[in-house]
Amino acid sequence: MRSTLFSLAFVALAVTACAPADRDDKVVNVYTARHYDSDLALYERFTRETGVKVNRIEGKPDELVARMKAEGAGSPADLFIAADAGALWRAQQAGLFQPVASKVLDSRVPASLRDPGGEWYGFSRRARVVAYDAARVKPEEVDDYAKLAGPRFRGKICVRSSDSIYNLSLVGALIEAWGPERTAAWVRGVVANMARPPEGGDRDQIRAVAAGVCEVAITNSYYYLRMASGADAADKAVTDKVKLAFPSLDGKGTHVNIAGAGVAKTAPNRDNAVRLLEFLTSPESQAHIAENNAEFPVSPDVEPPGSVKAYAGFTAHPMGAAAFARRQPEAQAAMSQAGWR
Ligand code: FE
Repeated sequence: MRSTLFSLAFVALAVTACAPADRDDKVVNVYTARHYDSDLALYERFTRETGVKVNRIEGKPDELVARMKAEGAGSPADLFIAADAGALWRAQQAGLFQPVASKVLDSRVPASLRDPGGEWYGFSRRARVVAYDAARVKPEEVDDYAKLAGPRFRGKICVRSSDSIYNLSLVGALIEAWGPERTAAWVRGVVANMARPPEGGDRDQIRAVAAGVCEVAITNSYYYLRMASGADAADKAVTDKVKLAFPSLDGKGTHVNIAGAGVAKTAPNRDNAVRLLEFLTSPESQAHIAENNAEFPVSPDVEPPGSVKAYAGFTAHPMGAAAFARRQPEAQAAMSQAGWR
């Protein structure tokens, strides 16, 4: 996420473009917690193809949820976009979505990657994986999430804070699979294994592995893949030393999260919101997101580009996104209790 300062400034700038007066049929108002420049190209293509202008308000997911709640029935929001199923669940819990029934969405988005009631849909996948120092760690030492909590990694793990929704969703998945007690023990083990108190984002953890601060880091897949395929020489050097492992949960596969969206309950431009959501799940859009942000497509029919394809063959755990997303409060409690700051 960019800094709060930036996102607040952006919200302040963008708000004028998205006043409630915009209730005509040629706009769609997007509240998005995704902050990738490559998404803008998607919106521009949507506008070219449909004539519908995309107004965008960008912010942190909780800020956007608070804003939609405060705006109430008069909210201009049509589509809420977030980069984690946990954030979508929070918006859903706040009663901000309406169910959408769409044959197009159902055919493109596997059932495990959307809300069973149709209130939100994933349009890209991201795996929460392990980046490890290839000189000091053997791949078989990081092939299972359970191993991260063992004595092998005492003082060797870098991971961001417990307010990261990505970590909450991972721990939520463990609770769903293992139950609260075994997960609490895992959380305590990981806290005991931290090389330093949590600081920074996922990329900072990967860089800390290369710098010798820790031997393993927990990260979302696309951060590593972007560093490995990007133009930055220093980042590229990091990924020469640091490799990526896709740990398994109970031998069933890697924890996979989504970026996705839900149509606002009070959307003034509902049809355009559904149209944009369908557009985001189109094969072209999924390929664009994979190409530009190194996320994995949700649809098995969409071929990822070369840089992503090399990593796309992993086994994904079949757990539904809705199942771990709703475990967030329990995950937060377990992490707080263990002193995961
Ligand atoms: Fe991210």
